[in-house]
Amino acid sequence: MSEIHRAFNFSAGPAMIPTEVLAQAQTELLDWHSSGMSIMEISHRGADFTEVAERAEADLRELLAIPDHYKVLFMQGGASGQFSMVPLNLLGNAAQADYVDTGIWSKKAIKEAQRYTVVNVCASSATSDYQSVPNISDWQLSNNSAYVHITPNETIGGLEYYDLPETDIPIVADMSSTILSRPIDISRYGVIYAGAQKNIGPAGITLVIVREDLLDRARDECPSTLNYRKTAGEHSMLNTPPTFAWYLSGLVFQWLKRQGGLASFAEVNARKAQKLYQAIDRDEFYQNEIDPAYRSWMNIPFTLKSPDLDGLFLQQADEAGLTNLKGHRLTGGMRASIYNAMPETGVDALVQFMHEFASRQA
Ligand code: PMP
Repeated sequence: MSEIHRAFNFSAGPAMIPTEVLAQAQTELLDWHSSGMSIMEISHRGADFTEVAERAEADLRELLAIPDHYKVLFMQGGASGQFSMVPLNLLGNAAQADYVDTGIWSKKAIKEAQRYTVVNVCASSATSDYQSVPNISDWQLSNNSAYVHITPNETIGGLEYYDLPETDIPIVADMSSTILSRPIDISRYGVIYAGAQKNIGPAGITLVIVREDLLDRARDECPSTLNYRKTAGEHSMLNTPPTFAWYLSGLVFQWLKRQGGLASFAEVNARKAQKLYQAIDRDEFYQNEIDPAYRSWMNIPFTLKSPDLDGLFLQQADEAGLTNLKGHRLTGGMRASIYNAMPETGVDALVQFMHEFASRQA
């Protein structure tokens, strides 16, 4: 393995997958468990794949301590597909849904939901120019709403929060870019969903964790493959699932367990983020404007003193093996996404590079 080149890849997603996991998949690729076939070539309904699928779910349940009255679904369509599936499955007879607007991904969820229902934006970060999260006590939740939708980690803005209102309205959370980065209390949520390509595995599979009592609200027009109850009833095999992505996600779950589970990742992730924010704050050359109370552990946007230096920064970072630091096309600047699979040594290398780059420009 030692001669294989692996960059420190700061992409927001698809993002780094642990080298150990990729190496295992490589070893097993041509001949999975002495079957003479790859995992991609066997039936999703056979005993072998069923075992892979069930183990992935069991490991995930253990990692996140998912209570028994929650179903775990492996779906398709990405987190963006959930922007529609959530209203299609949860609205029932309600006339509206509450959404918290904390940034670009919240807005996308809102826009899609408006195709199905009236959206009550019950709180918005607009007043802080999306640099902070509105105080829970100021959220204008409505009693008529089917659910309240939140985005606990805004992948583009770099805003993260875990404050939740005390309410009987089910809380639906888009955890695409924060799932598995720290322990969470699942019982506080009605639905949690996440695209895989950040902390779970390869793109193409979408995780949905849904409380059982919410499974009977789907509207008639909800297509079967998008229906939570039907998907749960068929163990996420209503049709052919993305078997390779499911298998690889399972390997990531095993890796997370071997590394000590989510408590241990929370510790490392907090430290990684702290090191990077310290580097940004220490040097006038760099800036991150997010309210320190809500700075994301996973996605850290920052700007340089002058945008004229962006190109040089990216080029030299790339040469140093630090790739994909370019910020989102809507925001510009830089963004370092540091999910579970980004080693702490990768963050250390970035911090050192940033310091040296700033000194050279001084
Ligand atoms: N929500 C959030 C918070 C995201 O970060 C992303 C992807 N970056 C999405 C939704 C959309 O995910 P997908 O591409 O899987 O549809």
